[in-house]
Amino acid sequence: MTVQPSSRTAELVMVGSELLRGVYADTNGCFLARSFAAEGIAVTRTTVVRDVEDEIAEVISRALSRVSLVVVCGGLGPTIDDLTREAIVQATGIPLALHQEIVDAIRQRFASRGLTVSENNLRQAYVPECGGFFPNPNGTAPGLYFESGSSLIVALPGPPRELIPMFHDTLLPFLRQRGFVGAAMPSRLFRLAGIPESLADQRLQPLIANDPGLRVSILARPNLVDITLFHEDAKRLGEIGDAVDAEFGMAIYTHEQESLEQVIGDRCRERGLTLGLAESCTGGLIGGAITNVPGSSAYLVGGIVCYSNKIKSGLLSVSEQTLADHGAVSEETAKALSEGVRKTLGCDIGLSVTGIAGPDGATPEKPLGLVFMACSSKTSTRVERHQFIGTRETIRAWATQRALDLLRRFLCQAAPSDQF
Ligand code: ATP
Repeated sequence: MTVQPSSRTAELVMVGSELLRGVYADTNGCFLARSFAAEGIAVTRTTVVRDVEDEIAEVISRALSRVSLVVVCGGLGPTIDDLTREAIVQATGIPLALHQEIVDAIRQRFASRGLTVSENNLRQAYVPECGGFFPNPNGTAPGLYFESGSSLIVALPGPPRELIPMFHDTLLPFLRQRGFVGAAMPSRLFRLAGIPESLADQRLQPLIANDPGLRVSILARPNLVDITLFHEDAKRLGEIGDAVDAEFGMAIYTHEQESLEQVIGDRCRERGLTLGLAESCTGGLIGGAITNVPGSSAYLVGGIVCYSNKIKSGLLSVSEQTLADHGAVSEETAKALSEGVRKTLGCDIGLSVTGIAGPDGATPEKPLGLVFMACSSKTSTRVERHQFIGTRETIRAWATQRALDLLRRFLCQAAPSDQF
């Protein structure tokens, strides 16, 4: 039987006592709500519920009285407190049956690691008699769907690295095929760096006003803003998109689903350039971000966490005079660090960061959150001064992203005659 969707709405049920104890945040709910919204499905309610079968069943029953698509997340594991399957059975009356294909997949997964399957694990091989399953190449628990009258109940595994690929690879095509999701609406992505969310929004508004067919999603992280425009009319989307490109120019680091550090890697490869890092207050976060990109060893020579003045002067050639006259957190020191690391590591470009992440170390002249960063090549050096606000963690996150963006702009704007 094929379920006919009654409207483009859904409810989410997030299962996990640990979610309610604040052990981890509900990032799956955020991911699902955002992804459904992008597909034109409005999530009208999200309920977080404990690992108690009756309570999960009750939440699902209530959700089913309001919407025809209910997505339950978590509680599909092999242990005694993973009760999502049983709760959906209780709410819908649809029994489960052992599925040999899943039994074989679980056995194979265990055998490949030299382990034998316990009875517990086989709980994950039960699928609804009225419904089916979504394979899980990243874990043992398959996703499940139950077809109950005109309603569909989907159960997805909790770990994000299992849930996210399953959502894209199998659930979305399935919902599209069943008519819950329309054909993907034409969309255009703009990833911005170095511009605050409020300013990006303010500059975007005149370009997108008065078009009822346009939908906009804005997602902000430290120093980064993603804008996605959706429009049924691809020509109109193109016109608005061109206006957005013209408005934001260099602030747009990509139109693809790629990170700032991937863009940096591409630019380095294109130009055959190598990088070296001198990190004080970011303590290796920039190196961590750059080495997140597979193959980054092709351009990252290395990084030095230069916390003490001894390392700044001894290893990175910042003169004692510069440190004495201007201090470790200064434009002059940032400049000298970027030039010093370039020479010490023998690379084309040096990137440095020095600042006051706090909570101690601030003075009236050098307040908390003051960060200098510099990028240098053989022929030029660019230095930036930033004043960030927030906790130590926030300041370090912002400094990392701003420095990556300084590097990206430096790589993109350098004239062909610049010598690296
Ligand atoms: P497993 O087979 O690993 O037990 P499961 O489907 O039973 O998976 P849970 O046991 O509920 O899922 O959660 C497993 C892990 O997945 C949690 O420890 C947590 O790290 C992550 N997780 C679960 N729910 C969420 C959520 N809503 N948001 C973010 N992470 C989550």
